[in-house]
Amino acid sequence: MIISALKSNDSRDSRSPIHPDTVSALTTLGAEILFEKDVGFGIYTSNEDFVAKGLQQASRTDCIQKSDMVISLQPLPEDEIKSMKKGSTLIGIMNPFSNQSLIDLCAQQNINLVSMEFIPRITRAQKMDVLSSQANLAGYAAVIESANHLSNALPMMMTAAGTLKPAKVFVIGVGVAGLQAIATAKRLGARVEAFDTRDVVEEQVKSLGAKFVKIDLGETGETDQGYAKELTSEQIEKQKELQSLVCARSDIVITTAQLFGRPAPQIIDNNTIRKMKPGSVIFDMAVESGGNVEGSVADEVVINNGVKIVGISNLASKVSSHASLALSNNLNHWICDFYSKDDNKINFDFDDEIIKSSVLVHEGKVMNERFK
Ligand code: NAD
Repeated sequence: MIISALKSNDSRDSRSPIHPDTVSALTTLGAEILFEKDVGFGIYTSNEDFVAKGLQQASRTDCIQKSDMVISLQPLPEDEIKSMKKGSTLIGIMNPFSNQSLIDLCAQQNINLVSMEFIPRITRAQKMDVLSSQANLAGYAAVIESANHLSNALPMMMTAAGTLKPAKVFVIGVGVAGLQAIATAKRLGARVEAFDTRDVVEEQVKSLGAKFVKIDLGETGETDQGYAKELTSEQIEKQKELQSLVCARSDIVITTAQLFGRPAPQIIDNNTIRKMKPGSVIFDMAVESGGNVEGSVADEVVINNGVKIVGISNLASKVSSHASLALSNNLNHWICDFYSKDDNKINFDFDDEIIKSSVLVHEGKVMNERFK
């Protein structure tokens, strides 16, 4: 079996699907591992370093055309899918909700498609969960980037030149990213408050030393996979109104509210922004999936009424080496768990919950109900 790792085809994404510290998981499988020249450029790993680990350098065309499995951090364009070997597998971050045409093309071309976003939320699959591994680092990066935009320091400092008050940080949405944002802001000495529509997170917020803001929105709840349920428009209006008081007293507001497979809810509007202090920062972590904040633009700093609204695409890429280490581990676990040494190929056993959920296309058929 030949497995190849492609270089990112998005200039805003410096991550690599392979990492020198984790690649031995693949080389010890017994498969032949190719990598696209300069795959490690964004994580300061040279081609020679990967060759020294037992991998072979190849052109992108050779990687795509010769491999039984292609690992990519982005979906591939149509011409590249068409040049893949029939019956081979494409695995990676495939953004399937925005890529129905990719799914249909893979089915038509007999390319198996594995979307790591569809790893189920079960204990056994946590080691493969790319959404969690990247959201965790994105939560960290959001705090660091927000702090860079603030004209105050985050910790309290009692100095001979006066006492500097700690910054107030408000985190909205306490999933994986929100929890890491809380923890990072606390480590930097900020005073942190947080809110989520899933009240089960109250204990987690408190355990990090932050304050949970209680906003009664009536029935909210979560799905069996732990995702938030969509609020009604009345509930969203109520949330905006009540949380605007917390935003008004905050120096940094970080929004992480997401709904799996749907556009993110807009939870901060101009009314709230007008109440905030000039110089304060709103960091919209959902900017790529519709945006939580009115007027936020990906990769731009928008100033509204003196408030800086920041949104950065592919935030985990800000810490590309750690993000690549975690991502490559996630991918390697999937490959190693389902690789059969006896047959020297992937064992697509659809009785396995992870295969059933993450393999969107197999042997020319769309397997996942959502995309049929
Ligand atoms: P996510 O990225 O889908 O959403 C981020 C957060 O936004 C969630 O906490 C959600 O409740 C919240 N949110 C949605 N609408 C909101 C609104 N209007 N106002 C405020 N907050 C809103 O979530 P996630 O990071 O994927 O995590 C969801 C849950 O799943 C978490 O409890 C997480 O710990 C859990 N999880 C479990 C596993 C596992 O069991 N293997 C893996 C990953 C995550």
